[in-house]
Formats: sequence, C-alpha cells, structure tokens
Amino acid sequence: MNTVTLDSAASATARNLLRYCEAEREWVLETTMALARLESPTSDKTAVDRCGEELARRLRAIGGAVTRLRQSDVGDQLRAEFGSGTSQVLLIGHFDTVWPMGQIDRMPLEIRDGCLFGPGVLDMKGGIALGMLAACALTEVVQPADRLVMLWTTDEERGSGTSRALIEEEARRSRAVFVLEPALVGGGVKTRRKGCGEFHLRVRGVAAHAGVDPDKGASAVHELAAQIVDLQRVRDMAPGVSLNIGLISGGTRPNVVAEEAHATIDVRVTTSEEATRVAAAVRERAPTIPGTRIEVTGGFERPPLERTDAVARLYGRARAIAARLGHDLQEGGTGGGSDGNFTAALGIPTLDGLGAEGAGPHALHEHIEVDRLPWRAALLAGLIAETMAGD
Ligand SMILES: [Zn+2]
Repeated sequence: MNTVTLDSAASATARNLLRYCEAEREWVLETTMALARLESPTSDKTAVDRCGEELARRLRAIGGAVTRLRQSDVGDQLRAEFGSGTSQVLLIGHFDTVWPMGQIDRMPLEIRDGCLFGPGVLDMKGGIALGMLAACALTEVVQPADRLVMLWTTDEERGSGTSRALIEEEARRSRAVFVLEPALVGGGVKTRRKGCGEFHLRVRGVAAHAGVDPDKGASAVHELAAQIVDLQRVRDMAPGVSLNIGLISGGTRPNVVAEEAHATIDVRVTTSEEATRVAAAVRERAPTIPGTRIEVTGGFERPPLERTDAVARLYGRARAIAARLGHDLQEGGTGGGSDGNFTAALGIPTLDGLGAEGAGPHALHEHIEVDRLPWRAALLAGLIAETMAGD
C-alpha cells in the first residue's frame, strides 16, 4: 500500500472507533456513575473491595479475564486481560479515591452543563470507564493481534506502596503503558511528571532551664530554624526543583531549651540526575549550634517521569490519531506524581493523562466533561491499536 492508502485506512479506522464510542456515550457515563456511587477511600478496604467487585463484574461482562490480586491492608487489586497474543499493551489506573465515606452526600452525583460532578469521577473512575470503552471499541473495530492488560490498583492516593512491584512487573512485559489519570486542563496528555520525595529531619539538642541555665542547653528548635533557612538553597539548585517544609514540631514548654525538633520536607524534581543531587543536599546537614545533632531520613518515593524519546514518540502517535479525530492534542507536565512515574523510570514507553477531561481533582467541584468521554476512548483505542501494530 502506498502512503495515501495507508493514511486513508488509518482515517477510516479512527472514524469507526469514534462512531463506536459515540454510540456508547450513555454506557460510559453509566459505568462512571456506578463506580463513583461505590465510594472507595484508600484506607477503607471493605469499601474499596465493594467497588472492586462491581468493577470486576463489569470487566467480565465486556469479555475481560479478571484476576483478583488479594491484599491484606488495602483493597484487592484487579488485573484484566483482553484478547491473546505474544506481547501486550498495559493500561493502568486506580479506583481508590481521596474522599472519605459519605462524601457523596455532600457532593452528590449530578450532571450540570454537560459535566458530571461527584467524588472520584475525574480521579479517576471516569478514566477507568473510558479505558473499558476503549477495550470494547478495539475488539469490535480493530480485532487486535496482541493482549490488552488492565491493572486497576487501590493505593495510588497513598503512594502505591503495595502495588508498585505489581505495576513494575506488568510494565516490564509491556510494549507501552497508558495511564488513565485525568487529562491536563484543556485535554492535553502528560509527558512529564516531577519525581516526589519525602524527607524527615530530626534535630536533637540538650534540654536546659531557659532562665537559670540557658548556656547549658543546645536548642533543637533554634537549630531547626537555621536548617529550614538553609534548605531554601536546595530549591535554587535547578529551576524545576520545588521544596516545601509542610510540617514542623519541637520543644515541650516555653521555659525549656528544646531537646527535640522535627520537620517533614516534600521535594519534587524533574530529572533523576536532579533527584540524586537534591537528595544529597538535603541529607548533608551540618549543625550550626554546638551540642545539636541532625539526622535525616526518607528519600524519593517516585522517580520523575521524563520526556524521553520513547515518551515523545508515543505522544507523536497520539497527536496524529487525535488529528484524524478532529482534535489538536497538546502535551504538558505536572508537579504531581502518578504510577506512570514508575513505569517510565523502567524505560517502558509511557503516556500519562489519557483519562477523562474535567477539573477539580481532590476538590469539591471535581467533575468530568461527559461529551468528551467518547473521543478520549476512541483516541485511546486508536493508540493501543497502532502500538500493537507498530515497531
Ligand atoms: Zn489519580
């Protein structure tokens, strides 16, 4: 086939995918609402499992072979496999949310001005529903040659401690990973995410009576204050570095020279090279007050998602498919991390922010744009199909 024929074949596939997804608009909306109605705060295993059971039932109903991966502390994770083949493409997302049980009474599910409002609809039950619609479209329209695997996890909002190994293991088997986290405002995908670290700085001093023996003490609080000022230098190490000391504590009484003080530091970086330098700078603490000692623990929990050539290639592919669907797909970055940070750091081509469009994740006005769900599903289905067929 010459290029023109290939182009028109690709355009016809895109149109067919879109037509299929548009016809299922009510289905994807209903699926999102059903999942959102089953509230699933990360810390409530019973509630998360209830949501997981419904999700598993719906995944089976659309032809998925579902495995429930049992967990003791958090909700069970779900793996669903569609089709067969020697290689696979992976979709990842999470069905835990940041919202406590009962939040749905304060934020009832409602459709206003073409948007569905409610806890967890954007982050990220809408993304899960559109991932499921993409799987249906793929099977119906393209008949893919390879396996599509979905991994829906339950502890992303708490750092993915129990699912990280699972995500990495599945990613290593995959040609590419698509992350169904929300799109950027305006619909763009995420080709960069900062890496996130949390450090704990503990200062030990010497307690003394602040009035009688001030010279015999060494104040942990005063030393911590000096360290906080000094840590601002870390932020200046590179333009993409952010550092926030969000929590401090220390001391016992006004008239006691403080024996202990503590700070928790949130640090974000854009490259793994920055992560190494920043971690070293945070850890290398020399006390300024004689008699005090400093101990630093913690580190980077999520490596940065960097815009590597592989990430850029996937974005280019997505942009071309979006164009065939009549959309100009933008790209951008964010300071927040996702499970895509893990898969990208392994060198597996990863594209993030392919989920629903909307606004207000973790906020009271959280919502998705209902009419944008079908085209996002068609985009994802096209992207999966081309990745399976491509190099
Ligand atoms: Zn999320």
